[in-house]
Amino acid sequence: MKRRSFLKAASVGGASVVAAPAISQGLIEWRMVTSWPKGLPGLGMGAERLAANITAMSNGRLTIKPYAAGELVPALGCFDAVASGTAQMSHDAAYYHTGKSEGCAFFTAFPFGFTASELEGWVKYGNGQQLWDELYQPFGIRAFMAGNSGTQMLGWFKKEIRSVADLNGLKFRAPGNQGRVLQKLGVTPVTLPGGEIFPALQSGAIDGAEWIGPYNDLALGFYQVCKYYYSHGYHEPGAGLQLMINEQAWQTLPKDLQEIVKVAAEASNRDMLAEYMARSGPALRTLVQQHGVIVRGLPEDVLMACGEKSNEVLNEIYAGDTSPNRIVKRIVEDFLKFREDVIPWTRIGEQAFLNARRLPFEFKLKA
Ligand code: CA
Repeated sequence: MKRRSFLKAASVGGASVVAAPAISQGLIEWRMVTSWPKGLPGLGMGAERLAANITAMSNGRLTIKPYAAGELVPALGCFDAVASGTAQMSHDAAYYHTGKSEGCAFFTAFPFGFTASELEGWVKYGNGQQLWDELYQPFGIRAFMAGNSGTQMLGWFKKEIRSVADLNGLKFRAPGNQGRVLQKLGVTPVTLPGGEIFPALQSGAIDGAEWIGPYNDLALGFYQVCKYYYSHGYHEPGAGLQLMINEQAWQTLPKDLQEIVKVAAEASNRDMLAEYMARSGPALRTLVQQHGVIVRGLPEDVLMACGEKSNEVLNEIYAGDTSPNRIVKRIVEDFLKFREDVIPWTRIGEQAFLNARRLPFEFKLKA
């Protein structure tokens, strides 16, 4: 819609008409498939904004047409679509594709891994981007970070979780490695795209679900089925989204358009995080005050058990890497090294401040 109105605008202005022949010669139109339901706040709208930004920044030389989940390919089909060239671009989460390589998970989130800013630090100023390029290179894909949800919620439960035993026997929507962690604690993990979670909760096909956080979870209406909303989203402390690009298509872009795509992805990375930060608090208030949602944190012993199982999963991934270039092992090693370097700082920096802010001191205007 924006694309059409942009092109229309470009063709009616006098100056643009003069410039039109030169522009139309180099006009490129790309498809961007996404994993998100149409119009989904945050992820879906963020992907649409990214597409519109690239189109606008390139003055229409590179026009990106976004597709919601299922419009061109299924929600979890972005990797294959971009690898095959069905779409030149996609917006989704890398950890949906651990079937391609276990290394993918680390570029979204690993349980007890990185916060949003730690992940960004690793990818941009650590070895993250280089390892990511190497991981995707055999598939003919490259990727950039393009969004982050911030800290997620552990998810929605129909009953209270008082002990590890309460997890036993639950069918719970949790993709990727969180599914594996929970499985070790007796949960049957289920992977479902966002748009299919609510009907599955309603029909009783699943007993609970994680999705994102208050902003998106409110929009999808999970509170209508589950009343307990658990924090300690240790599984996705800052879930990164990715912009995947078909490598052959990328190589056809002139350098300036490549730069526009990179910078637009970077802008969208920040923009999405800002949106989640701004919208999550009011959404949480609505869930609690209007819908009677009960917010809980996991008991410490359950959290410890999840941590221990996360370590087991990490070790399984490490041991399971049989690639000749040890790419998954090297990602795990670098993930652990960066974690070791960054945590002493975030602990004394951000975490110390957040703890300080929990003190009963309050701002109160005297006038
Ligand atoms: Ca999630």
